[in-house]
Amino acid sequence: MSAYLDHNATTPLRSGIAAAMVEVLGETGNPSSVHRAGRAARRRVETAREQVAGLAGVCADAVVFTSGGTEANALALRGCGRRRVLVSAVEHDSVIKAVAAPEVIPVDDQGRVDGAALARLLAQDPTPAVVSVMLANNETGVIQPVKALADLAHQAGALFHCDVTQAAGKMPLSVSDLGVDLLTLSAHKLGGPMGVGALVVASGCELVPFLQGGDGGGGGQERGRRAGTENVPGVVGFGLAAELAAADMARLAGLAVWRDEIEHRCRVLVPECRVFGGTAERLVNTLCLSLPGVGSEVQVMALDLAGVAVSAGSACSSGKVRASHVLRAMGVPENEAACAIRVSLGWNSTAADVEAFLAAWGALAARTAGERQGTAVPAA
Ligand code: PMP
Repeated sequence: MSAYLDHNATTPLRSGIAAAMVEVLGETGNPSSVHRAGRAARRRVETAREQVAGLAGVCADAVVFTSGGTEANALALRGCGRRRVLVSAVEHDSVIKAVAAPEVIPVDDQGRVDGAALARLLAQDPTPAVVSVMLANNETGVIQPVKALADLAHQAGALFHCDVTQAAGKMPLSVSDLGVDLLTLSAHKLGGPMGVGALVVASGCELVPFLQGGDGGGGGQERGRRAGTENVPGVVGFGLAAELAAADMARLAGLAVWRDEIEHRCRVLVPECRVFGGTAERLVNTLCLSLPGVGSEVQVMALDLAGVAVSAGSACSSGKVRASHVLRAMGVPENEAACAIRVSLGWNSTAADVEAFLAAWGALAARTAGERQGTAVPAA
């Protein structure tokens, strides 16, 4: 038995992507070279750019390929030329740590950004600013009111960046509907390879690159916005994944049924378990839930022994036992946050995966029932 329920950490490659990448690995040609081989590689990159642009609802020129979501977030916040950087308290670390001293916008107990607090922060200092709020959270799946927040930012003359790494492929995306200036994507969260992503730069937004000096026309690759020879196989895999994910989005909406089934049956087994962000609008695939009295790491290891892969909060910081900054920002007490795991379904999840999780989690809950003696029943 083996059930992979950690799609928010990374997704299995969608069908056909490995083969497409292997084919490109067998080809020679630098996309910046003018000869035939170079031009063929260039065509590969530009086709992928169109595919990624299609997922984000922009024209291809807006897409800058990067080494992943982390680099795209750093490029957005360091490259947009704004001295003030405001980030939500529940952003991924790659946003929070992109600049030295960002100002933090608080969230409510469901993890939703407080628009009034953002308006107050923007009003109290006229320094040109950029605001960064993600579309959906990697730990809880909670979806932010990005359009309303972007409107607030623009009214105050600020730019708006949105990390859609987790939302892409799971809900419709359009840069113009969201009203954002900069948008981050990562291939390995939507069925593509690791180590490739993109920053989408809406027209009119100037970007100062922090990687400079590459080959290629116009003062470096990616039209001067990101130097370095493109990761052609990765970019090709990303493009294909973006196309496949866009076509599969309606089917993925059905994952919400399994997510809710897991939540319901866990609550029946352990009424005192808690779902974080449970009353907010959430991604269809993500459930962050606690098993009171049992530490996250113990749960992850016990489930792993039963052949079920989940993570303790954010996988990017796993290996280190520390309470999630996302749950802390939502006001979750330390002892409850320490008992939270994240279950994330994806494009190849099955009903058998759901049953495997419930069997393993139920067995663990039964074994540890004694440890919940005396734990208070928290509010839902
Ligand atoms: N943003 C979010 C919301 C993420 O979940 C992740 C990956 N954990 C990243 C950014 C970083 O993306 P990458 O792994 O491609 O650097």
